[in-house]
Amino acid sequence: MRVSKVGIVFALTVIVAAGVCAVEDTDKPNIVILATGGTIAGSAETSTQAGYTSGQVGVDILIGAVPQIKELADVTGEQISNVGSQDMSDAIWLTLATRINELAASAKVDGIVITHGTDTIEETGYFLSLVVKTDKPVVLTAAMRPSTALSADGPLNIFNAVAVAADPDARGRGVLVVTNDDIHGARSITKTNATDVQTFMSPERGLIGVSLYGVNRWFRYPYRTHTSKSDFSIKGVKSLPRVDVIYITADVSPDLIDCAVAKGAKGIVTAGVGNGNMTGPALEAVERAIAKGVVVVRATRVPSGSVGRNVEVNDDEVGTAVSGELSPAKARVLLKLALLKTKQTEQIQKYFDLY
Ligand code: ASP
Repeated sequence: MRVSKVGIVFALTVIVAAGVCAVEDTDKPNIVILATGGTIAGSAETSTQAGYTSGQVGVDILIGAVPQIKELADVTGEQISNVGSQDMSDAIWLTLATRINELAASAKVDGIVITHGTDTIEETGYFLSLVVKTDKPVVLTAAMRPSTALSADGPLNIFNAVAVAADPDARGRGVLVVTNDDIHGARSITKTNATDVQTFMSPERGLIGVSLYGVNRWFRYPYRTHTSKSDFSIKGVKSLPRVDVIYITADVSPDLIDCAVAKGAKGIVTAGVGNGNMTGPALEAVERAIAKGVVVVRATRVPSGSVGRNVEVNDDEVGTAVSGELSPAKARVLLKLALLKTKQTEQIQKYFDLY
C-alpha cells in the first residue's frame, strides 16, 4: 500500500494553508472534467426532499462548487451531455469516448474525469475501458444525492476523482470509478443499493484503492485486458449493434426472445437464473434465435459468481457463449463491441474470456 504523490502534495498544501511552511506548487497536472449529467448535477427545490431532477447543473457550476480542486490540478471543463444516466445511450458513449481519446492524445492533458449518473455508470465505465486508447487516468465519478441536498456527496467525490486523475500512480490502471472514498475498477464495480450513499461495490475483485480527502492508497491493478491493450476501437463507428437483455424467471415467456429477434436484435444476453440457466421453452427460443444468426450470451441475474460453459446447459451443442463473471448489463456492452468484429460465437467466447 502506497501513499501517492498527489496525496503528499495535497497534505503539503493543507500545511501551507495552515501557515506551517511555504511550498509553491507551480507544476500542477492538467485535468479535464467531462460532464454528462446525473444526480451529481441534479437539483431539487429544497435541500431535504427525496424528489429531484438529474442533469440540471452545468460543468462550470460543478467545478465552481469544489474550489479546493485548484490545489490539486489545473482543471478545465466540457459539457458532453446533461442527462440522467437512465438516458445514457450508444450515441453519447461514442461522443464521450471519441472526446476522451482526443484529449488523452494531447501532451497537455494528464488525466480525465467524467461526471455521470450512478444508474448506468458501471456500463459507461466498462464501455470506456474497452475503447479508450490511453494509459492516462480516466476516472468516472457520481453522487447519490443531488447538488442541492443536505450533505451532498458530489463535491468530495469530484475532489477525490481529480486527485486520482492527477496521480501518476493511477496510470495503467484502466478506467476507474471514484465514489464515497473508494476507487473501483470499471469492470468490477456494480451499484448494489437503490438509495444508500455507500452503494458501489466490487463484489468479485475488491477495490483498486481508496482516496481519502485526495490522499490515494493503491491496492492493485485490474486483472483483465483494458484501454491501451484492448482490441476494440470505435474509430469511424457511427452506431453500435442492437443487443437486448432478457431477464429470465420461473416460467418466463419465451416469446420475449422471439420478439427481440423479430425487432432486429443482433445479439441477446440472457440474465439467467443460477448458473445462467433458463426454462426448456426459453432455451428452445434461444436455439431459434441462433438459427437466425443472432449471437446469444448466457449471463446470470445473480449479483456475484460466474457463469461457466457446459454446466447445466450444453453450450457446445446449443451454440451459446457464456459471460463468466460479467453482469448482464456489462455482457451487453462487450457483445455490442464484439459484434463490430465478428458474429462467430467461438471468437466471441474468446473475447468474454479475455475482457
Ligand atoms: N438517475 C440518476 C442517474 O443515474 C441517479 C444518480 O445519478 O444517482 O443519473
